Amino acid sequence: MGKRLAEYDAVIVGAGVLGLATAYHIKRQNPGHRVLVIERLSGPGQGSTAKSAGMFRVFFYSRTNLALAHTSVEFYMHLQEKGIHLGMRWVGYLWLFDAEGYKKIRPVLDTLSARGLEHKLFEASELEEMLGLRADLSGDEEAELMGLPNVDYGILIPKAGSIDVDALVRFYEMAFLELGGKIAYNTEARRLLVEPERPLGIPGEPFIWQDIAVRGVETSSGRIRADKVVVAAGAWSHKLLSPIGLECFFRPKKRQLFSIRAAGRPELEKLLWAKGFNDEGCMPFTILPRPRVYLKPALEEGAIWLSFADELGRPFEEEPELEPSPEPEFYEYGLYQVAVKYFPQLEGCRPHAAWAGYYAENPIDHQPVIFEEAGVIIVGGASGSGIMKADAIGRIAAALYSGQEEAELFGGETFKVKDLGIRERRVEPEKLVI
Ligand SMILES: Cc1cc2nc3c(=O)[nH]c(=O)nc-3n(C[C@H](O)[C@H](O)[C@H](O)COP(=O)(O)OP(=O)(O)OC[C@H]3O[C@@H](n4cnc5c(N)ncnc54)[C@H](O)[C@@H]3O)c2cc1C
Repeated sequence: MGKRLAEYDAVIVGAGVLGLATAYHIKRQNPGHRVLVIERLSGPGQGSTAKSAGMFRVFFYSRTNLALAHTSVEFYMHLQEKGIHLGMRWVGYLWLFDAEGYKKIRPVLDTLSARGLEHKLFEASELEEMLGLRADLSGDEEAELMGLPNVDYGILIPKAGSIDVDALVRFYEMAFLELGGKIAYNTEARRLLVEPERPLGIPGEPFIWQDIAVRGVETSSGRIRADKVVVAAGAWSHKLLSPIGLECFFRPKKRQLFSIRAAGRPELEKLLWAKGFNDEGCMPFTILPRPRVYLKPALEEGAIWLSFADELGRPFEEEPELEPSPEPEFYEYGLYQVAVKYFPQLEGCRPHAAWAGYYAENPIDHQPVIFEEAGVIIVGGASGSGIMKADAIGRIAAALYSGQEEAELFGGETFKVKDLGIRERRVEPEKLVI
């Protein structure tokens, strides 16, 4: 048994974007509470948060997703207006479709237009001109073998872009500390402490006839007692919860990014700095028709990032090392082969950098999970959109902590806490997935 470290009202495990946003909003709502964040790494946001592509969009079919992303992005814009630099760049999302795919998505786009969510339609010929895109792959044997469709249309979503994830995480860390919150880095949660509500001091406790709950955390620096433990340990949450018989309903799936340097390659620079889509004067975040490989303009480093979220065949598991490794063959035989057919400018390009992280995926409806069980609040399952939804998720988790039925999101919109819970979950399915 480790030594007793301290007592807190709330201990949050994990200083990723979700843990820190939750910690900040809990402390903001409960200024008198002693709130501690523990993180096994040496700084904030070094887990999957640091691996993110840092993209956001305020364009979802699901009202759940839209509320989470819309209010979070509004909050980030508000921070920027107050002088907190988050490096938001409105590059837009460009979704590419063949004629059949476009026909299927048209009713969804019409519904969204009626709700006031804007998009702009591009013809293939315009995209060929503006991006140097190869839209017609017919007659290309390799493309046919891979089943790559032509591009007939592109849908540009202007209310979308990229954000400096590190700056966002630093904001939550600083704001939480300024309110008097505490953070212990290099501190690993080893086990959640399940204890009787009324301990009798008898060896062998807890017995089946005792009421039990989670009362704290055993860490690498000793025991920490807390009235409430918040598990925001991202893709590793199940490792703390499974041993005590709790399910978190999301699991890790490896995701990889490969960065191609454009500088010094005129054709690629032309693509990166393609005009006519946004005020940044660059290519939008571009999503190919099938498979949905995406290309991100990484303007600060003069590079284009490539990725794809593979599902069947990609296990739900984490690698033994803390840092998952990118797979060179995933780029070489996968991403590259697809992307170079549409963007011949990529011919011969090899990544100068690559990294991997995890989506914490809830395979049931792919939306975040926020619920309480036996004294533990579980916050996670944001898949590939935890950055763009972090503020709303933090506010909903804080409302749950404070015993409120409704969370007030930024801008005043309310959100029923139980809608993202397990027992009375109510989320609207998404029809626009990458
Ligand atoms: C390749 C990739 C691209 C992505 N792109 C986007 C995007 O464009 N837009 C977007 O919105 N989202 C994106 N995401 C998703 C986004 O990054 C995540 O949803 C978000 O970062 C999740 O935050 P988190 O705080 O839950 O997890 P994490 O950042 O992983 O935080 C969990 C923290 O808990 C710590 N921890 C775990 N176990 C313990 C323990 N036992 N004790 C102490 N500490 C512990 C970890 O070290 C970690 O720091 C992407 C993710 C990946 C991997």
